[in-house]
Amino acid sequence: MDPIQLLLEGVLDHVRPLTDGAPAAYIPELATADPDHLALAVVGPRGRIFSVGDDHIEFSIQSISKPFVLALALQEHGLDAVLQRVGAEPSGEPFNAISLEARTGRPANPMVNAGAIATSALVSGDDIDERTGRIVDMLSAFAGRSLWIDEGVYRSESETGFRNRALAHLMRSYGIVDGSVDTAVETYFRQCSILVTVKDLAIMAGTLAFGGINPVTGRRVVTEAIARDVLSIMASCGMYDFSGEWMLRVGLPAKSGVSGGLLAAAPSQFGVASFSPRLDEHGNSVRSTAVMERLSTSFGMHVFEQH
Ligand code: GLN
Repeated sequence: MDPIQLLLEGVLDHVRPLTDGAPAAYIPELATADPDHLALAVVGPRGRIFSVGDDHIEFSIQSISKPFVLALALQEHGLDAVLQRVGAEPSGEPFNAISLEARTGRPANPMVNAGAIATSALVSGDDIDERTGRIVDMLSAFAGRSLWIDEGVYRSESETGFRNRALAHLMRSYGIVDGSVDTAVETYFRQCSILVTVKDLAIMAGTLAFGGINPVTGRRVVTEAIARDVLSIMASCGMYDFSGEWMLRVGLPAKSGVSGGLLAAAPSQFGVASFSPRLDEHGNSVRSTAVMERLSTSFGMHVFEQH
């Protein structure tokens, strides 16, 4: 077996005994996930992909869509216009918190639900389908293949997404979200329901790590400046109210989602992603977090380490 493959298998063996936590249940469709699934993928500078474990399993991207929709909003409007609608400060609160600036109604950052709904609402298009189409195209370019929406997950989100709807209505009252609240939230639910594998996520992280160029297809997806801006926000806000400790322990810009996926980018070196559905109290995958900690400490990946 390839030595890198072997090494990644070793990381999975190390975290497999961790069975704390539980898959997300507040979106009924996510509760049906097999809690034992575990996968890891890495993509290097020349687009070589290494993956181990349940690397063929598809799951909904959930919050990991947020940095990539932010990239699309930045491409369409530029940084200053985006910052008018959403901040860039860690909220220190759970992902679904009602944390809006008192005077302006601006959400703390684009990596929590409120901020992600505001960001998604910036994507141009006349209706839900047109906006979703642009989002799916952008995420597909990051992944290097055509991605799809899981209609079952989407329905499940839409039927139970009262809190997200409430957030969107509040932001609509401040003018942070324009136009139809329905269009904004349904587009957001659809973006969360896009199906990916751990390999897709590693390539998406790799595209950010390599300055906006997909390392597998060789295509430029976003400018270097956008990749840098997105990674900066992931570094301070990507892991919800665990973002500070994450930076300390793992030291890589990252993003997690409630289906158990987690991706991280080592700038100019590689993209990495892990998947395992059991979540901790922050809504981050227990084993995926452990995978990244293990990789970071064993291979000196922390961005503030001497290379
Ligand atoms: N779709 C989920 C929600 O809005 C995404 C949350 C997450 O992955 N943290 O609640």
